[in-house]
Amino acid sequence: MTRVLYPGSFDPVHIGHVEIVDTAATLFDEVVVATVRNPQKGTGLFALDARMDMLSESFAHLPNVTITMFSSLVVDLARDLECDFIVKGLRAVSDFENELQMAQMNLEISGVHTMFIPSASKYSFLASSLIREVAKFGGDVSSMVPSPVAKRLEELQGS
Ligand code: ADP
Repeated sequence: MTRVLYPGSFDPVHIGHVEIVDTAATLFDEVVVATVRNPQKGTGLFALDARMDMLSESFAHLPNVTITMFSSLVVDLARDLECDFIVKGLRAVSDFENELQMAQMNLEISGVHTMFIPSASKYSFLASSLIREVAKFGGDVSSMVPSPVAKRLEELQGS
């Protein structure tokens, strides 16, 4: 049985992430999606528990996907949860440089390997930071996020 860990900020989860989880859930027996507050990405829009709720609602149809949050090193979580690999999505070559360095560091400190899943090119422009920015100014991002996220973004826009 192969269990993989898919970590990220997911603030909020969008359909680029959904595509990676759908693929991982087909390739591997179990997928753990873990959300973290990334200090490099500022305070964020949604609290961690709201991100978890949106992830749970978005992946409720996939029985082999579970959701968690963490504040430790990704590799410590991977080991605690007995995950065989970390999975990361790749949007473009620009992601690769940073992700490769992180994967090599994680391998060096823990022996845990990272597997990359490339995004379909039609989703490669998507980033949570852009979704937040467009939504903040009232833009319609409903086609780019799962419906539980669209609902919460509308609530924020209305408040
Ligand atoms: P974002 O960059 O959208 O804020 P995260 O930090 O939550 O996303 O990213 C979590 C993981 O999802 C990373 O491996 C990232 O490369 C990947 N990812 C983000 N956006 C996409 C996308 N549009 N297609 C495929 N993978 C993506």
